[in-house]
Amino acid sequence: MHFNERLAVELGIDTGDQALIDILSGNRPWPAYAPVASVYAGHQFGAWVSQLGDGRALTIAEIRKPDGERVELQLKGAGQTPYSRGSDGRAVLRSSIREYLCSEAMHALGIPTTRSLSLVASPEPVQRETMETAAVVCRVAPSFVRFGQFEFFYHRGQHAQLAPLADHVIAQNFPHLVDRPDRYARWLEEVIERTACLIAQWQTVGFCHGVMNTDNFSILGLTLDYGPFGFMDAFRQHHVCNHSDYEGRYGYDSQPLIGQWNSSRLLQTMLPLLSDNQEEAADIVTDIYERYSSTYSREALRRWADKMGLREVREGDASLISRLLTILHQSKSDFTRSFRHLSRVRTDSDAPATGVREEIADLQAFDAWVTDYRARLRAEQNTDDAARAARMNQVNPKYVLRNHLAQTAIESAMNDDDTEVAALIRLLSRPYDEQPGMERYAAAPPDELRHLEISCSS
Ligand code: AMP
Ligand code: MG
Ligand code: MG
Repeated sequence: MHFNERLAVELGIDTGDQALIDILSGNRPWPAYAPVASVYAGHQFGAWVSQLGDGRALTIAEIRKPDGERVELQLKGAGQTPYSRGSDGRAVLRSSIREYLCSEAMHALGIPTTRSLSLVASPEPVQRETMETAAVVCRVAPSFVRFGQFEFFYHRGQHAQLAPLADHVIAQNFPHLVDRPDRYARWLEEVIERTACLIAQWQTVGFCHGVMNTDNFSILGLTLDYGPFGFMDAFRQHHVCNHSDYEGRYGYDSQPLIGQWNSSRLLQTMLPLLSDNQEEAADIVTDIYERYSSTYSREALRRWADKMGLREVREGDASLISRLLTILHQSKSDFTRSFRHLSRVRTDSDAPATGVREEIADLQAFDAWVTDYRARLRAEQNTDDAARAARMNQVNPKYVLRNHLAQTAIESAMNDDDTEVAALIRLLSRPYDEQPGMERYAAAPPDELRHLEISCSS
C-alpha cells in the first residue's frame, strides 16, 4: 500500500530488489538473519502483568545505514510468535494505516519515534469486533527494547540477566557510556531525561498516546506502539483518546505524571545493578528519579514559551501559558489551529488575533490575556511581528494527523484506493509549511467525524 522510498534510501536498502515485497510482508526472511521475537512484561493500566512479549511483532533484520548508524527492522502483524498468548499475531489494516501515518508525522514534527518503512495490505480476513483484513507494517528503530524487558527479569528474580541486557542496550545505543564505571546510573539518567523530554513534546503538540503502559515505553525515549492515539482537535485538559481507557488513566493532563510513574517502575528494576548496598542504590535511584520532574518542567516550559514566540523564559511565563490553556479548554478551541494562529497577535496594533478569537467563549478573559501577552513580548523587545510569526510557525504545526484525516484515508483504503494514504504521507512530511491547496486538511473535523471512537482493538 505504501513504501517509504525516502527512508529506504536513508537506510541504504536496495529499493529495486524484487524480493523486498516478500520480505516486508513477512513471506520470506531477510537473507542470513534469524527473526527475533522478544519476551517482556509490563504494567498495563497500572496493573502488573508478568508476561507479555512481541505477540505480533518480529524483528527481521539489523542493518547498518550508510552513515554508520545501526537500526532494526521490525514487522508488526506478520503472524504468531511464541508470545502471541492465543491471539492471531495479526494487525488490521485500519490500525496499521494509523501507525504508519502517525510515526512519519511525528518524525516530521521533530518528535522521537519509531519510523515506518512499508505498509503491506492483504486480503486475509482478521476477526475483531467485525471481520476486517490484515496488514503488515515494517517499522524501524535503533532498538525496540522497552521498559518491560527489564521489568520481566527483575520481577522474576532473574537479576543476573539485568546486567547483560543493560550492557547490550548501552553498547548499542549509548556507546559514550560503555567505559564508565558508573555507566548504569549515567545511562538511566539519560533514559529518564529522554522520557521526560518526549512527553514534553507530546504535551506541547497536543498528542495523546492512549496506552502508556510500561511495555509500550521505549528505552530510547521514542514514541512506540501507536494504538488508540490521538491529536486533540478541541482542546480538553483531561481528554482521553482511548475509548477502552474507562478510568481515564491516560488522559492528556495525566501523561506527564504517568511518564514519571513509568520511570519509577524502570528505576526499581535497576536497583540490583546500582550498588550492592541497598541504601546506597536507593539514594542513587532517588536522585535519578528527581531528574524526571526537573527535566519535564524545564523542557515543557521552554517549548510552551517557543510556541508563544518568546525568546527567553521569564518568571510569570508558566502562568501566562496556563491561563491561555485554561481559556482554550473552556472554549473547546481547536488546539492546533489556535496555536498556529497565535502568531497573528501584533505588538504594533490591537487588531484581534483572527483564527483564535472566533472560537473563544470568554472574550473578556482572552482579551485580557492578549493584553498581558503583548506586554510580555514588548518586555523582551520582541516586537518584530513578522520575524516572530516566522519563528512561531516553525514550532506550531499547521498540519497534524487528526483522527478524521486518518479515518478518511482508512475508508478509502478499505475500498482499494490508497491515494489518500499517500497524500497524507506527503502532507505530514512538512507539517510546519503552508501548503497551497491543502487548507482543508488544517480545518477542524466536520461534525459527523468529531467523535470517532478509537479503542485498543487493533
Ligand atoms: P498492545 O496493547 O498493542 O501494546 O499489546 C499488548 C500485548 O498484547 C503485547 O504483548 C502484544 O504483543 C499483544 N498483542 C496485541 N494484539 C495481538 C495480536 N493480535 N496477536 C498477538 N498478540 C497481540
Ligand atoms: Mg504494545
Ligand atoms: Mg498496540
